[in-house]
Amino acid sequence: NYEWSADVNRVLFNIFKINSFRPKQLDAINSTLSGQHALVVMPTGAGKSLCYQLPALIKPGITIVISPLISLMEDQVRSLTIKNIPAKLMTSTSPKEETAAVLNILKDKNTHVKLVYVTPERLAKSKRFMANLQKCYADGRLQRIAIDEVHCCSQWGHDFRPDYKFLGILSNMFPNVPILGLTATATAHVLNDVQKILNIQGCLVIKSTFNRPNLFYKILEKPTSQEGCISILEKLLKYRYKGESGIIYTNSIKDSEDLAEELRKRGLKVGCYHANMDPDSRTKVHNKWHEKYYQAIVATVAFGMGIDKSDVRFIIHHTISKSMENYYQESGRAGRDGLRAECVTLYRMQDIFKVSTMVFSSIGSLDHLYGMIKYCLNGRLCRRQLIAEHFDEDWGDTDCNKMCDVCCNPNIALREISLENHCKVL
Ligand code: ADP
Ligand code: MG
Ligand code: ZN
Repeated sequence: NYEWSADVNRVLFNIFKINSFRPKQLDAINSTLSGQHALVVMPTGAGKSLCYQLPALIKPGITIVISPLISLMEDQVRSLTIKNIPAKLMTSTSPKEETAAVLNILKDKNTHVKLVYVTPERLAKSKRFMANLQKCYADGRLQRIAIDEVHCCSQWGHDFRPDYKFLGILSNMFPNVPILGLTATATAHVLNDVQKILNIQGCLVIKSTFNRPNLFYKILEKPTSQEGCISILEKLLKYRYKGESGIIYTNSIKDSEDLAEELRKRGLKVGCYHANMDPDSRTKVHNKWHEKYYQAIVATVAFGMGIDKSDVRFIIHHTISKSMENYYQESGRAGRDGLRAECVTLYRMQDIFKVSTMVFSSIGSLDHLYGMIKYCLNGRLCRRQLIAEHFDEDWGDTDCNKMCDVCCNPNIALREISLENHCKVL
């Protein structure tokens, strides 16, 4: 028990209207309230935001939240405002008056604003912002710095952002201000690199498990012809996943449109979702899927944010993801209700080249793709064990419970026959 424990519980119930913490949330909250630097590693959707939003309300002063995506920050500020938690946002595209208002808040000893969200380039490039933040610190009002998606610091992460490199100055500029980094990237390599870059070596690492015991993982051999692929998808939707909801991920807008059209021609109710659609059409597609008018959405990775459907029973990857982190996140949208769901990947060699031309932009990206390929090519080891290793965890050798194709069918020859059957049976 800590001096703040009663307050923490009160804020959880009364302001966030949440009944209980998820694993490791309270650990993260207590360590940052104790003033320690910490990295919080939890899968997407596990509830990392609460780990800095709640502490922000426990002590006086301002929490700075650094996040790479404006849309994510807007969502958070909106949902905090609904809860009557005063939060502000400042980006490079904010109107002048808003920017001025936020700059004032940093100087204003009487402000009631608790959280200020900023993009990393604000910290890196805005002298005025930094000057005011310094003032805030000098007045003893800089309570905490939260860095969301903190793996973006590291070139070894799957999502490197150059502006995140500048965040290394924070721990020197503001000694005694706890830094809380949050990410769903768990590899030791990236976590060490992040600590070095932020200058918080040896900080606490608070990690919750990535194990999703109710997800069944499977690889299917992907036919070389488009016709063959569509036929597999058709069978899966018509037989194995009849009446159930799911997502089919592919890696290009064109593929998502073509596949959706072909599946519709075969009498299936599917929607299409990608970044080139206007927000209205996207919302419509999402809603139709939610209401079960569409059995599946054929989507690019643009379909991800804001999915809160708990009974997603299947995620089919028509094309491999560009990294295991991405795969875990995309497939993890299945089975949020805790009931069995299936994550099926169609794999063929040609797709490696297709995906690799897309990921060349960042250092280490081929390494990440390699992790994905290793997962697909593996024919002997439990798929869940490979996932566990990737996230530096040990789920125990016997924990799979036949929830992957390898453990279900250790004999490779038999498994190949079963690939065919997988589409027909049920
Ligand atoms: P992450 O950043 O880890 O991907 P979020 O912070 O966006 O996840 O949280 C995902 C969802 O989980 C949000 O809708 C949030 O309100 C909800 N949530 C967080 N913590 C809890 C909890 N302890 N109990 C119930 N819901 C929670
Ligand atoms: Mg998050
Ligand atoms: Zn297994």
